[in-house]
Amino acid sequence: MKVIHKVIFVLVLVTILIMQLYWMHGGNLVYKILPSQFLYQDTNDQSQGGATTSKIQFDGETAIVECTLDKSESYAWPYCGVSIRLTDAVFEGVNLSDFHTIRLNIDFDFLDGERDPRLRFYLRNFNPAYSKTENEYTQKYSGLEYTPGVGHGTIEIPIANLQVMTWWLADNKIPIEHSAPEFTNITMVELATGSSSSVGQYKMTIRNVEFVGHYISAEKLMLGLLVFWVTLALTYSVIEIRRSHQLILHSHYRQDHLRKLNRELKEQNIHFAELANRDALTGAMNRHSIRDWLDNSYGQDNPNAKSLSALYLDIDHFKSINDLYGHSMGDDILREFTMVVLGSLSPSERLVRWGGEEFVVFCPGRNIEEAMTLAEHIRHKVEARIWVHGDPLTTSIGVASLGHERTNEMLARADEALYAAKRLGRNRVEVSRLPTQE
Ligand code: GH3
Ligand code: MG
Ligand code: MG
Repeated sequence: MKVIHKVIFVLVLVTILIMQLYWMHGGNLVYKILPSQFLYQDTNDQSQGGATTSKIQFDGETAIVECTLDKSESYAWPYCGVSIRLTDAVFEGVNLSDFHTIRLNIDFDFLDGERDPRLRFYLRNFNPAYSKTENEYTQKYSGLEYTPGVGHGTIEIPIANLQVMTWWLADNKIPIEHSAPEFTNITMVELATGSSSSVGQYKMTIRNVEFVGHYISAEKLMLGLLVFWVTLALTYSVIEIRRSHQLILHSHYRQDHLRKLNRELKEQNIHFAELANRDALTGAMNRHSIRDWLDNSYGQDNPNAKSLSALYLDIDHFKSINDLYGHSMGDDILREFTMVVLGSLSPSERLVRWGGEEFVVFCPGRNIEEAMTLAEHIRHKVEARIWVHGDPLTTSIGVASLGHERTNEMLARADEALYAAKRLGRNRVEVSRLPTQE
């Protein structure tokens, strides 16, 4: 398995794990409203002209509000309760929109009667669209009314159950777009006696107020995961594209390199093939390469064989050049000699370095007389030339034409003629004729 597959497998597992954890524990964030950390204040109707009295006291983290509801001439709806400020600034609240539940542990008792009294619970939201800093009443009331009873412990209220109070909507002439519950900027939590409560003594024991919510909203989590996966996919794609681009470049480079190598090898091959057929020092053909041609064109029982003559050349006193001017000068003379002889030949004629300073010229189509003419021409050219070492140079040549014999036999006769030329004083052409050629 490739590394990337392993990484993706692990990341998928991690994603599933994150979602599982979120599903199980993601909604367990608790925001506790304790008297030691927030300002708890008792409230009553006196500011509206009522006659209700109230007081608040604390027992550790428990707040106890005791009040006496009283009807007065000027205010018809007596109430009391507690207001908990979540922040110091009037307009700046706490965003509780990621919270889904309110947990309340409140005992609420009516000391002057049997009846379980109702309790009102409000979250107050400040929004400059409808709220004014100088008028607390303009902060939206989202809440509900319930019966806490005494000793019933904690109850849970889904935050979605809260509703905006219709009297607040009416009094403040709130437009439709702002009439829904809103928890983005909660400044206060309020508890109060229920609507149309009887006059008398009440005792509110607030043991716990807390909000339970998500550490992060489901939408944000999903968006985060989506962004993560898209980023990952994009990054991977970019890396892959760059990698394959580099691979392409690399393979182009390799192709070029191989092409060049191939060309060089071909050249080398041609060079070696030529080397196999040619004498390395002079560039003349070698004995090996002429063998096949002789066998094919002038082998035995070849009825189509045309006439063939051979000139056997040997440079006179070549040894003395080596002795006087050095071996390398000898080499130069051999090369120059080759060039001079080749200059006298037609394309069909072949010059072979037979060994040392001995050369053989094969002349297809030349009879013995014509071969002698060529030999004399070469001998003269060599004699007349001014050579690189500055001394005169001559060559002896033995000539023979192919009769009813093998090419080897003709060559042997040419060699004999050469030997005769040497013996007769060098710088000469001698010929070996068969009886039929005389
Ligand atoms: P002759 O007139 O009787 O032919 O005398 P020569 O000195 O040419 O004959 P010989 O056969 O005694 O000497 C040939 C010399 O050619 C001997 C050798 O050192 C020289 N030789 C053979 N091959 C090469 C070669 O490739 N390069 C050089 N520089 N010398 C060579
Ligand atoms: Mg010789
Ligand atoms: Mg010689």
